Amino acid sequence: MKKMGSYHITVLKGDGIGPDVVTEAMGVLECVGKKYGHDFVFNEKLAGGCAYDAYGEPLPEETLEACKNSDAILLGAVGGPKWDHLPANLRPEAGALLKLRSSLGLYANLRPAIIHKALSDASPIKPEIIGDSLDILVVRELTGGIYFGERGYREGKHGEEAYDVEAYSEFEIKRIAVQAFEAAMKRNKHVTSIDKANVLESSKLWRRTVTEVAKDYPEVELDHMYVDNAAMQLVRNPKHFDVIVTSNIFGDIISDEASQITGSIGMLPSASLADGAFGMYEPIHGSAPDIAGKDMANPIATILSAAMLLKFSFGLVAESQAIEDAVTKVLDAGYRTPDIYSEGTKKIGTKEMGKRICDAI
Ligand code: ATP
Ligand code: MG
Repeated sequence: MKKMGSYHITVLKGDGIGPDVVTEAMGVLECVGKKYGHDFVFNEKLAGGCAYDAYGEPLPEETLEACKNSDAILLGAVGGPKWDHLPANLRPEAGALLKLRSSLGLYANLRPAIIHKALSDASPIKPEIIGDSLDILVVRELTGGIYFGERGYREGKHGEEAYDVEAYSEFEIKRIAVQAFEAAMKRNKHVTSIDKANVLESSKLWRRTVTEVAKDYPEVELDHMYVDNAAMQLVRNPKHFDVIVTSNIFGDIISDEASQITGSIGMLPSASLADGAFGMYEPIHGSAPDIAGKDMANPIATILSAAMLLKFSFGLVAESQAIEDAVTKVLDAGYRTPDIYSEGTKKIGTKEMGKRICDAI
């Protein structure tokens, strides 16, 4: 982790609203840089459909090299109906996004689900359950488990059958658990590990290994929950959770559920981390081609992704907090992009939202 000086960020604006929202996040990073005396150096490259259009491939070698040679990546969104007809390896999602994750060893996916007080009416959860705020961090294993296990078809007892293997090594579980506990140390020191250890062998190893890792973090409280119960508790009693750590497939489902209880897709950031400080940061929403280039997209998810970048890849905690505080301030002042607008608030566009957050910093 760097202490001072310049930081190299590869910027992949991508497709659809990607350029709209990333431009604002870059502006916010520049404001933070100015205020705190850091030099954020941006290197813009093409990835996704735009790269396919320019080079005939969604992830050109030049882009991947730039990513490998930088300290962190800021990504908008890739994909759109324009490229849906292409074979999988040329489509932006598999050809750029999945390839970036696997090539860069980004095995830990961090997705905060936060309900801002000013937006609590957008959540499907009752206000008395939410209370002052809700802030959950889902840490999902991203490069192992059933999505990467052996799969195929075979002759079964009743004819053809298909199978997918869920396999986890102690090594893989340990490193994702460490990410979760490290994140918990910077938060409220509570980790809930989600598994299905009453049924699955892989979950038994999961539970045993996470319990083992917890011994290195005596300050952090650890509890275990079966995934079916966790799915229920997320809507019944979401306040129970602070950091959740879970496998690739459970995390896929649980993180979508957690994001939806916040009620606003345009607000939620994410980080995908490798060993050390390197990471890729992006909003959880897609390229939303319906509103691309119309100054309508909500840039806050990407701006908060930039805040995660500062915290996790550069260790700039105060700077990261300054962005989060600025977002809260602008929301509290009643400014809303169309996706989070409600009566009595002030409707503004993508650019003005970016500018107001800069001003608040
Ligand atoms: P993908 O297939 O990558 O998910 P998508 O086009 O389905 O891409 P989503 O992120 O799933 O895009 O978004 C679905 C809809 O939600 C969009 O069409 C858009 O109307 C809305 N939306 C998504 N992100 C934003 C945003 N940042 N600001 C405002 N509206 C958004
Ligand atoms: Mg979608």
